[in-house]
Amino acid sequence: MMAESEFEIIRRYFTPHGPRRDDVLAGVGDDAAIVRVPPDRDLVLCMDTLVAGVHFPVATEPAAIGHKALAVNLSDLAAMGAEPAWATLALTLPESDGAWLERFSRGFLELAERYRLQLIGGDLSRGPLSITVEAHGFVVPGKAMRRRGARPGDLVCVTGSLGDAGLALELGEQAPARLRRRLEYPEPRIAAGLVLREHASAAIDVSDGLLADLAHLLEPDGLGAALQIDALPRSPEFTAALPAGPRGDALSLDLPLSGGDDYELCFCLPQGLQAPVAALLGAVSCALTPVGVIEAQPGIRCYYPDGRRYSPRATGYQHFGHEGR
Ligand SMILES: [Mg+2]
Repeated sequence: MMAESEFEIIRRYFTPHGPRRDDVLAGVGDDAAIVRVPPDRDLVLCMDTLVAGVHFPVATEPAAIGHKALAVNLSDLAAMGAEPAWATLALTLPESDGAWLERFSRGFLELAERYRLQLIGGDLSRGPLSITVEAHGFVVPGKAMRRRGARPGDLVCVTGSLGDAGLALELGEQAPARLRRRLEYPEPRIAAGLVLREHASAAIDVSDGLLADLAHLLEPDGLGAALQIDALPRSPEFTAALPAGPRGDALSLDLPLSGGDDYELCFCLPQGLQAPVAALLGAVSCALTPVGVIEAQPGIRCYYPDGRRYSPRATGYQHFGHEGR
């Protein structure tokens, strides 16, 4: 706890704003929160930590840090097909900097507002900047998506576009604003997750790169996949911002396969469901792209359109000692 009144900081920056839910019986301000899970729902929990200098540059705009700390957790809820409800926040700060806290809380609470998520508690400490969020959501019993469950022959699909955040990192200051926004203010695919939980055989969010996250989805069932690299969805901004020449050609393949931080969903669909599910996702403004097919043989194989194999140069971003954000 910080000497300079933890209570005062929470009261000033975090509690006057954000949604109020009537399933929160006691939120910030008591020793612990009290919440009520609807009788016909299961509770889904996830937690993620962002550390300055590891997960984001120290000088990142505080509103972007606040947004992203919540967004990466909502992305995990989306991958389960859960509807967000509550979150707790543990914030470790080098000093109590009012301007920083004001912007951080704005980024966090603006995203919370959009999903009717209420911040119900937390903790403040002094130390190197790091942010831990635990998010809570609901699923209809038996309806949550899992990593396991895919079958050989299922289509491997992704939402939206891949590689934007990776290209923003690669280009740094030169990155166009739209790509930087993908990196700094990722949009969790909550609406898509709620649609997909009725149809997908398995799902995961793409936080560490498609190859790494798809491998996490395949491993529990001992399955493999064949991917068509020309099918990977790339945004117009991605294609326009690629450097010319061989470096651009390499990035055009490597970033959609291995770039992290896009927070799209990778999911599997039984054959025949592509058109109806694409229509349902279209209704929530989300594109569906089939990129490959599940195979019984373990491992991920990538193919050019002419059938030649492509060997990716990297499999994905690895945080030390970490598995499956
Ligand atoms: Mg995840």
